[in-house]
Amino acid sequence: MNFQNTEIAYKLKSNKQLLNNLLIFRLISSRTLVSVFTKIISLSLKLNLPISGILNKTVFKQFCAGIDEKDSIQVVKKLKKLNVKSYMHYASEGNKSENDFDNNLKIIIKTINITNEDDALPFTVFKASSLGKFNLFEKKSSGTTLSQLEKKIWNKTINRIESCCKHAASQNVKIFIDAEESWIQPIIDEIAEGLMEKFNQEKTIIYTTLQMYRKDRLKYLNTLIQNSIKKKYKLGFKLVRGAYMEKENERAYKNGLPTPIFENKNLTDLSFNNAIDKILLNIEQCDLFVGTHCEKSIIKILKWMKENKISNGYKKIWFSQLFGMADHITFNLASRGYQVVKYVPYGPINKVVPYLIRRAEENTSINSQLPKEINLIKREIKRRKFNAI
Ligand SMILES: Cc1cc2nc3c(=O)[nH]c(=O)nc-3n(C[C@H](O)[C@H](O)[C@H](O)COP(=O)(O)OP(=O)(O)OC[C@H]3O[C@@H](n4cnc5c(N)ncnc54)[C@H](O)[C@@H]3O)c2cc1C
Repeated sequence: MNFQNTEIAYKLKSNKQLLNNLLIFRLISSRTLVSVFTKIISLSLKLNLPISGILNKTVFKQFCAGIDEKDSIQVVKKLKKLNVKSYMHYASEGNKSENDFDNNLKIIIKTINITNEDDALPFTVFKASSLGKFNLFEKKSSGTTLSQLEKKIWNKTINRIESCCKHAASQNVKIFIDAEESWIQPIIDEIAEGLMEKFNQEKTIIYTTLQMYRKDRLKYLNTLIQNSIKKKYKLGFKLVRGAYMEKENERAYKNGLPTPIFENKNLTDLSFNNAIDKILLNIEQCDLFVGTHCEKSIIKILKWMKENKISNGYKKIWFSQLFGMADHITFNLASRGYQVVKYVPYGPINKVVPYLIRRAEENTSINSQLPKEINLIKREIKRRKFNAI
């Protein structure tokens, strides 16, 4: 598999767009710049200063499809032309009021309906914490007893989550439950398991997300497989490495606790690969959706598919990359007929800031795939110049 074909990778980009991408990638590859930028943005948000303009021209444009579903649909249509499917997400984060949560529920239901009507949208997604108070997820995860009022509010949260999944199941739309911070994940896991047991009897509708940078996830994966075999339901896995590493390590350090994250990238990679092996071994029981920008992980799966004489378009294995990233993987895989989906987030600029900050920080990491992408874009610009002569 050759991921280096830049003509395929950047077919949808104009010369101007490629130059813009290059500029933004260069900016966010500087750790100092990203750190200053994040501080300014966070402070400006607190002080209600106008930041939309600068975000819109930089990271928002790079990593988000737009502010509403109409913008996203335009992106979905473009991707479809090159055999790439999409899943849309209203990526608003940091909501605090019951009104916000009700509004988020409405948007998720609307997205499920849109997904149902468009074969370019095979999945949809939600974040549990977008439907209820973060501190209640935290309390439930740590086993803290809730007050009467908190119980009432928590029941509303559960109802919202169940409504999403019930509606998705009624429309036959496959839905991911995102993985979040480890201190709210225990209750999300419990909810996701209950929902998979309820809705995945015949086929996989609900997918839980496993962050393989966590030391405990391989054991959890084994337990899930054993339980689902006993209780006779299907498992859907969105497999990722994990996006909250800095936050997780900082919190563990502050509280004098051991970090739940592996000590180095090699250990995370090993755990990710072991999870792939385990799921592929149980592929009759599981559906696999791999969210990664790491070529080696993808090649591992492609090799397994080839060895097992599994066709490229096999519907139980999907590959996915984030909008604005790793186009060389997305489009080269799609050109070979593999099942590929782009994660297409949207939302008002102020509300997607936490998502944008995670993307910027991730790309600054020393283990980031960004230098490779920068080189590929430069190569494509050169190729186009040469062809124009
Ligand atoms: C479609 C899709 C959906 C996603 N959904 C979620 C989600 O629900 N929840 C979520 O948390 N993330 C999610 N992510 C983000 C994902 O977890 C990663 O942050 C991102 O994809 C980069 O990882 P990678 O597999 O591309 O690997 P690479 O770019 O090869 O590796 C980067 C990752 O390796 C890990 N890592 C890096 N350095 C170290 C270190 N020193 N020690 C230990 N581990 C290290 C980190 O997880 C880091 O993000 C999603 C990503 C995609 C593509």
